[in-house]
Amino acid sequence: MVIKIELNKRQELILQIVKENGPITGEHIADRLNLTRATLRPDLAILTMAGYLDARPRVGYFYTGKSGTQLLTENLQKLYVKDYQSIPVVVNDSVSVYDAIVTMFLEDVGTLFVVDHSSLLAGVLSRKDLLRASIGNQDLSTLPVNIIMTRMPNVTMCQKDDLLIDVAQKLIEKQIDAMPVVKPNENGYEVTGRITKTNLTKAFLALAKDD
Ligand code: ADP
Repeated sequence: MVIKIELNKRQELILQIVKENGPITGEHIADRLNLTRATLRPDLAILTMAGYLDARPRVGYFYTGKSGTQLLTENLQKLYVKDYQSIPVVVNDSVSVYDAIVTMFLEDVGTLFVVDHSSLLAGVLSRKDLLRASIGNQDLSTLPVNIIMTRMPNVTMCQKDDLLIDVAQKLIEKQIDAMPVVKPNENGYEVTGRITKTNLTKAFLALAKDD
């Protein structure tokens, strides 16, 4: 679940009332705003979910006093890879650099994952890897991608239950644009997804909106 951080006017008002008068019941907040309890319910739910307010049965709402940064950190700890990952685009390690370039254009991705004959992760191909191979005098249609890819065990990976914030950290640390989401088995890693800087940007936007 993603939490709205930016508050509307009415939510700001509610926050102010609870700050000054809490603990206060929903009924009393509604009275002060000349609104019905039912009208306020969604706003109170958002403020509670986002961590600004806490509610106790028969006591009412009170202000948690958490800062925006604290709340942002708490909410970031709720975002997981599995909720934001994309479909991986995979090529076999025997395909040519030429075919990999065509695949990258057709599939409209910036990173390809390379798998071996057992469909296990063997390497990664970025745009620059393919460009670098293209500026030599080599015949791209006979040059296999496994010569130029970044290979295992040097591939940075993640799993579906990892936190998005940890993936962001790894992308920045390793200076890469994407990583495969993998499922380990006894022989290696199966590629099940793809996480890119675009996925992270989408998560960032979702935090600021209400979706
Ligand atoms: P580009 O090279 O197009 O700017 P990247 O920054 O993602 O794209 O890639 C930089 C280098 O890091 C490339 O050589 C690429 O093979 C390698 N690389 C990309 N993704 C990974 C990854 N998940 N793990 C290890 N190496 C990677």
